[in-house]
Amino acid sequence: MKGRIANVFFVVTLLFCGVSLAQTDAKRSITKIAGDLYRFQNDFHYSVFLVTSEGIIVSDPINADAARWLKAELAKRFNKPIRYMIYSHDHVDHIAGGEVFADTAIVVAHENAKADIIAEQRPTAVPDITFSDQMTIELGGKRVELSYVGRSHSDNMIVMRFPAERALFAVDFIPVKSVAWKNMTDAYIPDWMNAIARVEAMDFDILVPGHGGLGTKADATAFRGYMEILYAAVLKGAREGKSLEAMQQSIRLEKYKDWHNHDTQLALNIEGMYNQIKLHRRGN
Ligand SMILES: [Zn+2]
Repeated sequence: MKGRIANVFFVVTLLFCGVSLAQTDAKRSITKIAGDLYRFQNDFHYSVFLVTSEGIIVSDPINADAARWLKAELAKRFNKPIRYMIYSHDHVDHIAGGEVFADTAIVVAHENAKADIIAEQRPTAVPDITFSDQMTIELGGKRVELSYVGRSHSDNMIVMRFPAERALFAVDFIPVKSVAWKNMTDAYIPDWMNAIARVEAMDFDILVPGHGGLGTKADATAFRGYMEILYAAVLKGAREGKSLEAMQQSIRLEKYKDWHNHDTQLALNIEGMYNQIKLHRRGN
């Protein structure tokens, strides 16, 4: 009996060790995108930062542990103050931990993001500066242009364009060679496709997403194409009176079968489109 109890404790201890290892063992890296623009990885989340002679502009902190790691790396590698932190949107998995940078950084976000950060009590620093359409930050002779491109995956998503580096950081609403994530809860469709079209009209070469590998402007066009084809298919089905389940069985998009998450997320993407279409057809 004693032996069994000891074994149980041993197993429980191992389980707790496993949990704590998993939490602290995040895969983190810093890679150069172009010029002085870098990409920061924390497991499946990515943000960017720009190094200038006057200091550093960071973007999504991701979470407090990740931000502390990045802050230490920036001090070691560049020895420059962090002057600005820009949030892509209000979602907690991208912007938690902003307080780590807020001691020296001015925090910038879209005005709707600030409202949600306060209302939802996001565990992060509240933005100091907000804007509605566009804002440019200049530091040490370098520039980042912030643009609100309309509602998409949220109602407060902005894109960050780095003109000298010809790169654009867009989080969660333009995945590269991937279908959308889950059932696109809280998304705004078809506004989302218009938001991507506005991005396509911007001048850049490198598309830097918040998840997955880098892409190009062609990937933005391709993802908008996917969203439009799926939307049209679900709208047609809904008008023919088909059920969601029937559409999840019948809608097959062979063209996108090699994209990331196709096999696991397509049915959920169809559900997301279906929910949005139901809203619109009710006349809301
Ligand atoms: Zn998000």
